[in-house]
Amino acid sequence: MAYRWETPASVWQEDERSRQFELLASEGLGHIDWQAHAQGRLPDVARLLGASLPAGCDCAPIYPEGFAFCPNCGRALQRLPGTPSRQPGWWGPGADAMLPRHVPHGLPVTSLPLGDSLEERPAAPQVGRCDVTMPVPPNACCVFAASHYGFPEQRLLALAHTRGVLQYWDPVASLWHVMAPDDGAASLVFTASAYAWLPVLEPRRGEVAIVPTSAGLQRLWINPVSETYRTETVLDAPLVAAPGAMRRHIACLVRPEGTVRLWSARLDADEVEEFACPDLPASGWSRPIGYDGRLFWLHEGGQLAWRPGQAPQFTPWPPGWQPRLDFGGPTQSRDGRLWHIGHDGQGYSFLELGSEHPQAAPIDGARLGFANFLFRRGHPVVDEPWSNEHVEDLNQDDTLVLPLLRAFNNNRSQPSGLVLRFHKYTGRAEEALGSRVIPRTTVEWIGRRNVILDEVVRLSRPLECLPFVYAGCLWLHHPDWNEMRGWRLEEPA
Ligand SMILES: [Zn+2]
Repeated sequence: MAYRWETPASVWQEDERSRQFELLASEGLGHIDWQAHAQGRLPDVARLLGASLPAGCDCAPIYPEGFAFCPNCGRALQRLPGTPSRQPGWWGPGADAMLPRHVPHGLPVTSLPLGDSLEERPAAPQVGRCDVTMPVPPNACCVFAASHYGFPEQRLLALAHTRGVLQYWDPVASLWHVMAPDDGAASLVFTASAYAWLPVLEPRRGEVAIVPTSAGLQRLWINPVSETYRTETVLDAPLVAAPGAMRRHIACLVRPEGTVRLWSARLDADEVEEFACPDLPASGWSRPIGYDGRLFWLHEGGQLAWRPGQAPQFTPWPPGWQPRLDFGGPTQSRDGRLWHIGHDGQGYSFLELGSEHPQAAPIDGARLGFANFLFRRGHPVVDEPWSNEHVEDLNQDDTLVLPLLRAFNNNRSQPSGLVLRFHKYTGRAEEALGSRVIPRTTVEWIGRRNVILDEVVRLSRPLECLPFVYAGCLWLHHPDWNEMRGWRLEEPA
């Protein structure tokens, strides 16, 4: 015999003999395979459901939502909150919905006030260490999302999109789990172009994002109880470039029958528009950048600009001019125009984006960064992108700074953010960004005061360094490392 318990969101069954509870169904989770997972997962599952855990007895490892006392022995239980978290999520570069409109979207810029706590650490030249570590996910080349997906607590997901593997971090057990696809779930592989997903701002339970896959756009749902995921098709066509959002529209590049087309839809009205772009390349696009009412996709061959409701415009770069897409991304001049760095065979220059007759501004050397967080070798460039660098410390002449993440602070003359500083490096910037091994690198916070957060010995492929914010810490990941490094932004609870 078994008793059936119904809570507002779930259905449970209690075994009459063992007095154990089994979850049969819960809102938004789809099929539940309760027997398949280990008991060690239950503390995490209870937090996601807002269920109850034993506090003073061993009668059962988990109880339905709202249970205040153990029905077997009457002892009090630990009741976990069931209301969805309001904490802002982390979706990787480019998906921060809180940024003001005059900041380009799609670049590694965050609205989170990271500097408030990081700048309280001992200033440079003191070399710090990370506070906490976390094992890297088993499939280490991945993108991260930290969000609540409609649950009471945030959880971290790592999607290895070149292999289509979705990984879930159980923070209670401190373990990564590979999520299995439900029957009929689409492959999550996307390799044609740079990766970007579209977060859902008011997610239903388990709803993650609209994700690009090689076969189209999919709405991704997770079931952390069964450690599975499922997908719903949003667009069924081979995808060429990652999707972007502008105002109420989303758009991406597809190639349904061998010809590239720009596909767009209104999020609230299913209103689909398509434009044929027959001569566009079918891979190698940057993730989209949103600025001034338009979405931009950049390519080695040129720039594509699109304004909702209008035909997209592709503008090849001027003859001989090659963009340096690895150097960072677009940056703004004081008059609000967007520029990208490149090389014309003779020297570097900034080229205006979004104009049919772009202006060029020659410069005397490489500049790394994006969104007004720019460096010429070891020195910041403030004011215009082509202004002379601001030399505070001559010793930084033989270092090279690679910006990773800007913290938006509305102060153009003092941009702040996370950077890597390569020491005793006077070679070409292009080589530092490749597979060359850099003997000494420091991880630094640049702001009202500069803080050396950590030191890295023998770093290569620095562009694979990925910062993210999760569980009150700033984290830095590199696929070559065994552990991710974390710096606390708040006191542990
Ligand atoms: Zn009990």
